[in-house]
Amino acid sequence: MNLHEYQGKEILASFGVATQKGIVAQNTDEAVAAAAQLTKDTGTSWHVVKAQIHAGGRGKGGGVKLAKSLEEVKTISGDIIGMQLITPQTPPQGKKVSKVLIAEDVYYPGDSEPKEFYVSVLLNRATGKNMIMYSTEGGMDIEAVAEKTPELIFTEEIDPGHGLQGFQARNVAFNLGLSGLAFKEMVKFITALYNAYIGADASLFEINPVLKTSDDKIIAVDAKVTLDDNALFRHKDYADLRDLTEENPTEVEAREVGLNYVALDGNVGCMVNGAGLAMATMDLIKQSGGAPANFLDVGGTADAARVETAFRLILKDPQVAAILVNIFGGIVRCDRVAQGIVDAYKNMGDAINVPIIVRLQGTNADIAKKLIDDSGLNVLSAIAFEEAAKMVQEAL
Ligand code: GDP
Ligand code: MN
Repeated sequence: MNLHEYQGKEILASFGVATQKGIVAQNTDEAVAAAAQLTKDTGTSWHVVKAQIHAGGRGKGGGVKLAKSLEEVKTISGDIIGMQLITPQTPPQGKKVSKVLIAEDVYYPGDSEPKEFYVSVLLNRATGKNMIMYSTEGGMDIEAVAEKTPELIFTEEIDPGHGLQGFQARNVAFNLGLSGLAFKEMVKFITALYNAYIGADASLFEINPVLKTSDDKIIAVDAKVTLDDNALFRHKDYADLRDLTEENPTEVEAREVGLNYVALDGNVGCMVNGAGLAMATMDLIKQSGGAPANFLDVGGTADAARVETAFRLILKDPQVAAILVNIFGGIVRCDRVAQGIVDAYKNMGDAINVPIIVRLQGTNADIAKKLIDDSGLNVLSAIAFEEAAKMVQEAL
């Protein structure tokens, strides 16, 4: 689950990570009130107005602006709320901004030496360890740094069984070129950040920039946080952080009916049982010249109702030019699945406007094939994988 910056910062702060203070606002009145409150709390006279969308690069797209008075907070937040913000990380049409974070200005006016670092914490799947990735080249495009000057990106791998060791946090501060108070503050920052990563069951923290002020404070100025969905049951209080307007509506609907659906950008819809077979099916579609429009695991009970729901979800995507159903009948019998497909098809009538190719293998596969072939519906059936691939190719 991806979070907004303001939510991520609240989680960081709850674990003692020093963060830029801010208050979220949905309209200009709230924005001005938030700014006044921050001035009271922190003494700041300037504020930054930051668009809250699930995408980075907001600064470049005009979604992060400095306001030097309450008047400016009002006009800038008025401009940003409701805008269609386009950044390198949004879809081409951008994303609509419905909230802004009003934050204290932590770059002191006249400060000649603010320094922006990059720090992220994530899982290295190859080594099975957590990893702190960091660089002196923060604030800007980290992808460009990785490409042009990879030697400026450092990593520290942490064995989850041992946790972050003191020397590792000191390594980070040292490699970032810090000394004195700033060194100590960075060690504290990294330690709190790692504890937050573990404590919140996150799968990604990306803090860009981490700011060092001229008086050696170390502060998280941005926060990209992804929480591990599989651990959300341990964090009931995080459940309402989900922003459904930021998610693919079909994925949201699928989750509600208990189907495992991920939207992709290809033209062949697929309905499969089991995640492994779903991956293999996507490869098969690629090989036959198509591209998968989705990942969909219907699970063990492929009855008519479930098959119909799955068809309806897949067909919401206007790109879909054919549907490949690939089911292995191990526990569930193929003939039952075939009956489910036939019933769902008859029930849906004209709603199915693309060819359907069904490949059923396993228990009663031959009975299932006959059932489909005799149904008189526009459904092609196959038992062999390659045969199904060829049918997909011809359907496109
Ligand atoms: P992103 O563009 O989506 O990554 O958004 P960030 O939160 O990283 O903000 C973009 C840029 O705005 C940062 O790199 C900073 O240079 C600038 N910025 C953020 N907070 C402040 C602030 O308090 N004062 C000033 N002057 N600039 C800020
Ligand atoms: Mn950033």
